[in-house]
Amino acid sequence: MVREALLHERLPGGRVRCHVCQWRCAINPGRVGVCRVRENRDGVLHSLNYGAASSVAADPIEKKPLFHFYPGTSVLSIGGWGCNFHCRDCQNWQIACTDVPDNSQYLPPEEQVRLAVHHGCQGVAWTYNEPAMWFEYTLDSAKLAHENGLYTAYVTNGFMTPEALDMIGPWLDAWRVDLKGFSDELYRKLAQISNWRGILDVAVRAKRRWDMHVEVVTNVIPGWNDDEEQLRGIADWIAAELGDLTPWHVTRFFPMHQLQGVAPTPASTIERAIGIGHAAGLKFVYAGNLRGEDESTVCYSCHRTNVRRVGFQAEVRALRGSACAHCGADLNFRTAEAPGRHSARDSGTQ
Ligand code: SF4
Repeated sequence: MVREALLHERLPGGRVRCHVCQWRCAINPGRVGVCRVRENRDGVLHSLNYGAASSVAADPIEKKPLFHFYPGTSVLSIGGWGCNFHCRDCQNWQIACTDVPDNSQYLPPEEQVRLAVHHGCQGVAWTYNEPAMWFEYTLDSAKLAHENGLYTAYVTNGFMTPEALDMIGPWLDAWRVDLKGFSDELYRKLAQISNWRGILDVAVRAKRRWDMHVEVVTNVIPGWNDDEEQLRGIADWIAAELGDLTPWHVTRFFPMHQLQGVAPTPASTIERAIGIGHAAGLKFVYAGNLRGEDESTVCYSCHRTNVRRVGFQAEVRALRGSACAHCGADLNFRTAEAPGRHSARDSGTQ
């Protein structure tokens, strides 16, 4: 599972600099980066986790959540080990805040594709921990997935570098990115990240340069990011830079990891966040983790239901390609009929 890493440069004194994520760690010989899964061995950076899987499951794509991306399909969801963030509210800290265990399952890219096909999945998503942590593996796997007609998705904190994005861009169809807040203070306190604004630039690059389908998630945490400044900042930015048809998921927080003492998000806060999204002009704002909430997609133009969702189950009722089958309004969907520029259909030969 140890491979020489991509995207690193040699520095004087046997040090190396990694360029996979925006930490751009300068690593001394014998040491690892912030993520603990990339190590300097004798002046050469190595990935310690190629193919080392922590979790594999066939999920509804709605669970990622990706609502406007091949609705109603199953996706093979794969997680690895390690993370470049150390978020206080991490939902997967058991796999994110640890070294690669000696007995980790090895899942080569070919096996990943075989499992996806075997379980009737139409695509593969790297999720649960930050997918850039096993960049080389997801790159090889994404190429193979496209060659086999499968779509591909990153469920990401968005902190990857532009050059890493450009390397995997031709083989990646969806960028499901977290935006945790909209201030230096929030990112520093919650995720221990100072230069978070690079996340915004890379999300825009994923959409504009690589034509990826982008959806944004904000886990709304009482007392942390539920104020007007954070929520309005995110909503306004999405509308201005990603477009008002970009889905924004505002999800309810439950006590987790280092925030055990914080109460679950009240339903009224999620409703307020949805109102802020709509006020910013966003056409699709969805409530997550809120029991009984209707998360169906309703056309903003003719007000008829396009995709009915109950829990994680989705029933496509009225889509024609990416548009409303009733009135033709663009709903920003990716489907088999409207797969996007760099889809599995046309990038297998690149
Ligand atoms: S992936 Fe990020 S955190 Fe890990 S070594 Fe590279 S720059 Fe550092």
